[in-house]
Amino acid sequence: MTGLLPYGRQSVVEEDVAAVAEVLRGDWLTTGPQVTAFEEDLAGWTGGAGCAVVSNGTAALHTAYAAAGVGPGDEVVVPPMTFAATASTAVALGATVVFADVEEETFTLDPAAAAAAVTPRTRVVSAVDYAGHPADYDALRAALGRDVLLLADAAHSIGAAYHDRPVGSLADLTTFSFFPTKNLTTAEGGAVAAGDPALLARARRFRNHGLVREPAALRAPDEGGWHQEVHEFGLNYRLPDVLCALGRSQLRRLGDFLAARARLVARYDEALADLPGVLRPARRSWARPAWHLYPVRILDGRRREVYDRMRAAGIGVQVNYLPVHWHPAFADLGYRRGSCPVAEAFYAQQLSLPLYPDLTDADQDRVVDALAAALRGTPVRTAA
Ligand SMILES: *Cc1c(COP(=O)(O)O)cnc(C)c1O
Repeated sequence: MTGLLPYGRQSVVEEDVAAVAEVLRGDWLTTGPQVTAFEEDLAGWTGGAGCAVVSNGTAALHTAYAAAGVGPGDEVVVPPMTFAATASTAVALGATVVFADVEEETFTLDPAAAAAAVTPRTRVVSAVDYAGHPADYDALRAALGRDVLLLADAAHSIGAAYHDRPVGSLADLTTFSFFPTKNLTTAEGGAVAAGDPALLARARRFRNHGLVREPAALRAPDEGGWHQEVHEFGLNYRLPDVLCALGRSQLRRLGDFLAARARLVARYDEALADLPGVLRPARRSWARPAWHLYPVRILDGRRREVYDRMRAAGIGVQVNYLPVHWHPAFADLGYRRGSCPVAEAFYAQQLSLPLYPDLTDADQDRVVDALAAALRGTPVRTAA
């Protein structure tokens, strides 16, 4: 019996190990030349939008909201079909989160629902590229107007394109995660991308304690050569040089990772086409997704049963996600079930099948067989 087949995992090769070891032997462990180089490499994937790397995807969201000036009295519109961090980082800054429902089929933020959630206090509307499929950014922009900042939580979607424009160039602010299950990894890591240099500068400042060093900006320019000032509160969200070297090495293979994911998605699509009781993920004609998840829908109220059966068969299926407003921390603030029916109905059916570049065809066939057996309700094989 092999171990549980995971729903996602990293792909690390000797080249990655060597890149990290080289930095470890040098002078810089944390902020050094690899940071700037990784940021420049990332900008090659964001259509040139400048990037600020940070210590994880949650820090990226916190930093992006801070750069947008989110604070007490502000509202941030968020879809519930995401990881809690998309919303909780706005709460951490004192803002009020307003949940807006997602579209059928792609389960990304519904432009009409987002527009209906906007008030004069709205500072940011956050879209999430669920599973790696871009949200409908042109429709969001048209529905929202220019007064609110649009954020793309692209933790799933680095390398994806919308009408041939790359993720990273579609919103005012874009955030990435480099957690091991994501499309590339730095162990922990993330980034904020912004086309507006002023927003990017604010993000860079927030990730480094809010420190100001440029002489022209100092309030006490004659204090001495050591002097630096905190103008606005920030945190230490720096990504170390060691991990930036890993990120650069991984980024060189991102195209291969995405091609491997796309090939496996096509294999799943074909294998599941005629399987009753399951719906495959949809894709809009204008999207070139960077499939991070392969989210199927299990019909007839059988998701829990299929999850349990597949887990028992050694298949590490996952559910992405519990609607964020259902988490007790949000329920305790008064958010109610039933407020986002599309996301909630999707959650009741959703199941993520294993998907990662090194998933073998044989293991993928095992996943399909286990799913078919679980749907038939017959005992599933437990041996690999
Ligand atoms: C993973 C993820 C995050 C958080 O990223 P971390 O690097 O794990 O902190 C935020 N949003 C979404 C949609 C994610 O999938």
